[in-house]
This record gives sequence, C-alpha cells and structure tokens, in this order.
Amino acid sequence: MKFLDVPTLLQISTAFNLMAALAWLVLAKAFRIAPRASWLMVASHLARVPHLSCGDCMVGWPAAVRLGLTELLLLASIVLLLLALRRMLGSRVRPRHIAWISGAGAVGIVAGMASGSAIAPQGVNLLTVAVLAALAVREIWRGVGDRLSTGITVCTALPFAALFVLSLLQASLLILVPGWGERLLANPLPGPWRAALGLMLTVGISLSLIALMIWRLIMRIQHLTHRDPLTGALNRRAFEQALAEAQAQLARGRGFALIMIDIDHFKRVNDAHGHAAGDAALLHCVALWQASLRELDRLGRLGGEEFCVLLPLSSPRDQAAAAMIAERLRARLEASPLRWQSQDLPLTASFGVALPGVGDARGEGVLARADAELYRAKAEGRNRVCVADQPTPGPA
Ligand code: GH3
Ligand code: MG
Ligand code: MG
Repeated sequence: MKFLDVPTLLQISTAFNLMAALAWLVLAKAFRIAPRASWLMVASHLARVPHLSCGDCMVGWPAAVRLGLTELLLLASIVLLLLALRRMLGSRVRPRHIAWISGAGAVGIVAGMASGSAIAPQGVNLLTVAVLAALAVREIWRGVGDRLSTGITVCTALPFAALFVLSLLQASLLILVPGWGERLLANPLPGPWRAALGLMLTVGISLSLIALMIWRLIMRIQHLTHRDPLTGALNRRAFEQALAEAQAQLARGRGFALIMIDIDHFKRVNDAHGHAAGDAALLHCVALWQASLRELDRLGRLGGEEFCVLLPLSSPRDQAAAAMIAERLRARLEASPLRWQSQDLPLTASFGVALPGVGDARGEGVLARADAELYRAKAEGRNRVCVADQPTPGPA
C-alpha cells in the first residue's frame, strides 16, 4: 500500500458507500426498479459509513463498547445485504434462518461487550458474517445456478465466497494467534491490507448485486414479451417460436406432438356469468393443464379460449403417447368444474392431436392438421380428443 495510506482508503470506502447508497436510492425512488431490494441496499451501505468514517472518534470510549457498536453495525449491514440479495433473486421462503443466525450473532456481540471483552464481539461477528456469506453463496447458486452460465454464476458468488474465507481467516487469527486481538485493539484504524480488502469486497459485492438486478430486469422483460398477461401461458409469438425450434430439432431425431385445445361453449360462460367468470375459467384451465404437464412441455394461448401444447416425445412417432396426454387434459378439466361465486361451473374442451411432417420449416403444417382435428372434435360433439393420421414420416 505505497500509494494509498489507510485514512485515504477509508475515505474512498466511505465515499463509495455514500455514492452507492445514493444510486440505490435513485433506483428505488425515481425508477422504481426492485424498490424493496434497493431500499435494503441503501440501508446496508449507510450502516457501513459510521465505522469507516469514525477514525479515532471513539478513542476515549471503553474498547468493548467501541468495538461492540462497530461490530453490531457491520452485522446489520451484512444482514440487510443478504435480505436485498434474496429479494433480487425472488426467493419467497421466509428468511427465518437469517433472523436466527443474525439474532444469535447480535446477542453474542452484546454479551461480549457486557463481559468487557474487546475481542469477543469481533470474534462472534466474524463467525456470524462467515455463516451469512456462505448463505449468500448458496442463495445465488440456487437462484441463478440453473438459469445463468456457470462462469457468470461463479463470478456473481465470488465476492461473497471471498467474504466467507476472509471472515473465517480473521476469526481464526483472532482465536488462535496469541496477542493478535490485543494488536488490533492497540490501533483504532485497521491495517492497510484490511482496509484495502474491505474496499475491494464492498466494490465486488456491489457489482454482484448490480449484475443480479440487471438479470432480474431482463427476466421481467422476457416474461412481459413471452407470456400472455392474463394466464401466464406462452403468448402466440413465443409459442410459434418454440414450435419453429422444435421443428428444426426434428431432423436430429427429436420428435414432438401438438395438441390444439378450444374450450367448449365458452361464450356461454361469459354470457351467463360475466366476463370476470370467463377470465377465471381461462386461468382455471391453464392452472389445471400446467399441473398435468411436464416442465419441458410448452403451453401457449393462441388467442381467446384457444390453447396449444407442444409435447417433446421420447420416441419421435409416438402418437399414442400424445393422444393419451390429450385425453388426460380433457378428463382433468371435465372432472374439475370452476368454483365461481359459490357455484360449480362445468367446463369442457375439445382437443386435436397431430405429429409434424417434413418440409414444414415453421410448423404451419402440423398446426393446421391439429386445428383440423380440433374442428372434427367440435363437429363430433365436443369434449373429446381427435387424432390426425400419421403424416409422411420424416428423416426421424
Ligand atoms: P365452441 O364450443 O364452438 O368453441 O364455442 P365457444 O363459445 O367457445 O366459441 P366462440 O368462438 O363462439 O366464443 C369464444 C368467446 O371467447 C368469445 C369471446 O368473447 C370470448 N373470449 C375471448 N377472449 C376472452 C378473454 O380473454 N376473456 C374472456 N372472459 N372471454 C374471452
Ligand atoms: Mg370455444
Ligand atoms: Mg374458439
């Protein structure tokens, strides 16, 4: 640390935390981007400022009180950070374990202060921060591990992993090396390496949080552009894109089937019970069908009360498997009326099943065949599944 002395490093850290707090405040207030997470980040950055900017302001205070208060604020900063991280990742589980761990840490720090030990509060805090940092790594891995590349996930989790390692290292030095704690106490300012590492960690963690916020925004935009706003099923454009991709996979031996669905006499639901009941019926159908399908199956709303399912098939020409799934969707709806204003409204739908053929780049042929079968199901009395004749086998 030839160029930057400790007071300068601490001033840079203070300025960085204040600027970061301001930036998150602008995101929360002006742009309303992830407002709750942003407010937590404002508080987290501000909680770090007194410790960094105090210098020797508490020199006359008993060492246990001085260090205890500092550690409590640092702990609060990490807890707020972890809560913000969970919000960014959309974690819905209530963070009881965080409350337990941080509560135990805070009690340990206060007990250390009360006992007059100047080293205990720091030791307890370092161990608590290490556990919270490990939790942050786990949250990131669970939250984005299967949605982002491993490289990006590792980079995002890296600052938290570094915080975990450095906290454990410092706690070990404090506990195992005789005189280490006393040496820390003798100087109210941290050593140059500690100050520099602290700044690097703060910057690294902020970059991670910003990366996660951008990821969240991209996910939100993708959801808005790919999903039907009422039911959450794929919209027509996204479904047609999925169909074209499946059609392209056909040449590689990966088959699929299409199931076209149209709710029977849906207009009567609207006419008899109002548009809100019709909307509830659409939501009801999508929830039922989604629950009966696998994660890799795609359900799209093509318009009005018309839906389509794209089913990847393990054996490419297994029309019987597709027909069986369509029958399952039909039976499930027939057996599950919509509960609407204390009445059961019976609902049924008609289904048309078809397999793709060759020379049909965007899947228009299979869509038309499934549609024709759907019309046959309507003509034959509704609430039934009709299956198209097998098309000319493709290269699959
Ligand atoms: P069929 O058995 O022949 O399919 O008869 P149907 O009544 O289901 O078909 P029709 O095409 O006559 O009526 C479809 C109705 O779906 C008309 C339209 O008002 C209604 N609809 C379309 N989109 C929505 C929506 O988002 N919400 C509600 N509530 N109704 C919708
Ligand atoms: Mg209909
Ligand atoms: Mg229709």
